[in-house]
Amino acid sequence: MSGSLGLETTKNYFILFGYFAGFMANVYLKRKISNRVVNGHPWIFNNEVEKWDHNIPAGEIVDVYTFDKKFVGKGYINPVSRILIRLLTRNKTEEINENFFLQRIRQCWEYRKKLGYSENCRLVFGEADSLPQLIIDKFNDYFVIQTLALGIDAWKPSIVNALNNIFQPKGIFERNDVPVRELEGLPQQKGFLSPSFNTQIIIWENGLQFNVDIENGQKTGYFLDQQDNRRHIQHIVKGAEVLGAFTYTGTFEIHAAYFGAKSVLGIDISENAILQARKNAELNELQNICHFETANAFDVLKQWSNDGKKYDVVMLDPPAFTKSRDTIQKAITGYKEINLRGMKLLKPGGFLVTSSCTNLVDQKLFLQIIDMAAKDARKKIRQVTFQTQSADHPVIHGIESTMYLKFLIVEVS
Ligand code: SAH
Repeated sequence: MSGSLGLETTKNYFILFGYFAGFMANVYLKRKISNRVVNGHPWIFNNEVEKWDHNIPAGEIVDVYTFDKKFVGKGYINPVSRILIRLLTRNKTEEINENFFLQRIRQCWEYRKKLGYSENCRLVFGEADSLPQLIIDKFNDYFVIQTLALGIDAWKPSIVNALNNIFQPKGIFERNDVPVRELEGLPQQKGFLSPSFNTQIIIWENGLQFNVDIENGQKTGYFLDQQDNRRHIQHIVKGAEVLGAFTYTGTFEIHAAYFGAKSVLGIDISENAILQARKNAELNELQNICHFETANAFDVLKQWSNDGKKYDVVMLDPPAFTKSRDTIQKAITGYKEINLRGMKLLKPGGFLVTSSCTNLVDQKLFLQIIDMAAKDARKKIRQVTFQTQSADHPVIHGIESTMYLKFLIVEVS
C-alpha cells in the first residue's frame, strides 16, 4: 500500500466525475516483471504492481513508476479489471485532459490522411494509436465509437467534443454492445452521441457503394480492415466462377463481380446480412452476376465438395473462431476444416482467398493450418500474397493484438 496521495489540479477529475476532487496517485511496479511494459506495451496487469492505493477510484489517471522510481507513464486504472492500468502517455509533462484527446485524435486523422485515406477509415485503433480500448470508425461524415474500458469510457464526452471540433460530423453513434465491457464492470449499450440520424448509410469503397447499418450491423457496421485486401482479388477473379463463404454484406463478392467474375455466389448464416448483401448487389447493378444465400458454411462447404462442385475462386472470411487461448484448438480445427473444403471445391489452378481475424492464431500458425489443410486435401499450394489488415489499423510490434488479420491468397492445384 502506498502511492503518495496529494491534491492536484482537480480540473480533469471534475470533467471525469463531476463532483469528485481528485487524487494524485502513484503506482509502483514490481521489480521482476516481464519487459513487456518497458518495451512499449500499454497494459499493466494487477499482479505486476507492487504498491498502489487501493482506494483510488476506478477510472482515475495514475502515474506509473518502476520499482526504483523511474517514471514509466500515465494511464487510467480500473481495480475491477485484471488489466489494472492502461497507459495513455509515456510523457511525464503531458496532461490527460480534454485537449489531450483533441490532439491525439487529430494526430490519428493526420496519419490516416498521409496513408491516403479520405472518406472511410478506422480513425482510432486503440492501443496502436496510444488510445487503449478506443475504437472510432469513420464512415465519411458519420462516426462509430467503441469505448471498451472504463477508463476510456469516462472520457467519452471529450472524445465526442474532439470529433465535433475536427470533423463537424453528420452523426456519431456508440456501439458499445460488446461483451468485453462487462470485464470492466461496464454495461453493454448503443445509441446516439449526436442528434439522431438515419443509421442506414451508404459508403463508397474502391468505386463501389455499400449500405452500412451503423445501428444493427455487426461490430461497427462494416469491416474496414479488409478494404485494402478487397482490391487484391482484382486479377484472379476475371471470368471466374466464384464462391464466397462468410460473406456478411457481400463486400468481397461484389468486388469480384465488379472486377469481372462470370458468376458469384455468397453465403452467410445471417439472414439479415444476406438481405443487405442483395441490396448491395442491386446498388451496384451487379445483381445478375452476384447471388446470395443464407446457409451454414460448414454444412454447405462439406456438402458441395462431396457433390463434386467446382469453382475457380473460393473466398473464406470467417469470424474469430476463438476469443480465448483455452479454445484455440477448436479454432484451429474450424480453420482447417473450412480451408480443406475450400481447396477441394477448386478447379486445378484455382485460387483460395482465405482470412482469419483472431490474433490468437498468429501468422505462423495460420500458415501451418493452411499447409495441413492442403496436405489432407492432397493439394499443392503456391502463395500469391500474404498480408494483414489495412494500414488504417496500424500494427505495433510488441502489441500482439494489433497484428490480428491474416489475408492469404494461394493457387491450388
Ligand atoms: N467478408 C466480410 C466479413 C465477414 S464477418 C466483409 O469483408 O465484410 C464473418 C461473417 O461470418 C459474419 O457475417 C457471420 O454472420 C458469418 N458466419 C458466422 N458463422 C457462420 C457459419 N457457420 N456459416 C456461414 N456464415 C457464418
